[in-house]
Amino acid sequence: MSRSVLVTGGNRGIGLAIARAFLEQGDKVAFTYRSGEPPKELVDAGALAVRCDITDSAQVDAAYKEIEEKHGNVEVLVANAGVTKDQLLMRMSEEDFTSVLDTNLTGTFRVVKRANRGMLRAKKGRVVLISSVVGLLGSAGQANYAASKAGLVGFARSLARELGSRNLTFNVVAPGFVDTDMTQALTDEQRAGIVAQVPLGRYAQVEEIAGVVKFLTSDDASYITGAVIPVDGGLGMGH
Ligand code: NDP
Repeated sequence: MSRSVLVTGGNRGIGLAIARAFLEQGDKVAFTYRSGEPPKELVDAGALAVRCDITDSAQVDAAYKEIEEKHGNVEVLVANAGVTKDQLLMRMSEEDFTSVLDTNLTGTFRVVKRANRGMLRAKKGRVVLISSVVGLLGSAGQANYAASKAGLVGFARSLARELGSRNLTFNVVAPGFVDTDMTQALTDEQRAGIVAQVPLGRYAQVEEIAGVVKFLTSDDASYITGAVIPVDGGLGMGH
């Protein structure tokens, strides 16, 4: 099995672990990075690094053209890129809100829509969207982020219905708190407060998210679509 896989935001954090996991199983992996240099580790292992800001449709289109030329149509898409801009509602500007939605939700729409073309032609495709436990539970100070991540659930489930008959699956992974740059922004006190709420009593490691994403694109998951899989140490149980 050597599929053409695309991971957005694959240059660090969860996306990097996902790209690494697909490379390890022999897939042809492309990943997007927005800033800086792509990680040498992935490039040396044969991954295709494509610079792309998912808030810009032209960049998304150009990225796909390059990937299609080098790896063929994308068969597995992991829409992972995302941002936070935390603020209490009273202080949250319209730009704080719309920019987070534009990356996390509309950005995901842009990359999924562009992948759809090739997947329909191939009559197969696996799409995994990285949401968050916060999209289901809500989170004070993260109304923009939580709304964007909840939006991904409705988006994926609509596409699961719309395109299931074409042999395309759309699933959502909802991680809890994972040790990455995104959560480094939290204070020690905030981290301790979060860990106290997690039945497993710790943050997730990035590999624990990557493993579930890999499963959802495997043959073992061929009858799973429209699912929201929590990988949150039990934090969001019941939601
Ligand atoms: P990081 O902040 O470590 O990485 C975010 C990634 O998204 C980077 O590669 C970044 O690129 C990319 N990105 C951000 N904005 C854009 C954009 N406009 N266009 C293209 N790429 C962009 O985050 P994590 O690895 O922690 O998170 C990955 C995903 O998992 C996100 O969707 C996040 O919301 C979600 N998640 C994370 C959790 C956590 O606890 N860490 C928990 C639940 C969900 P660049 O390096 O150029 O900035």
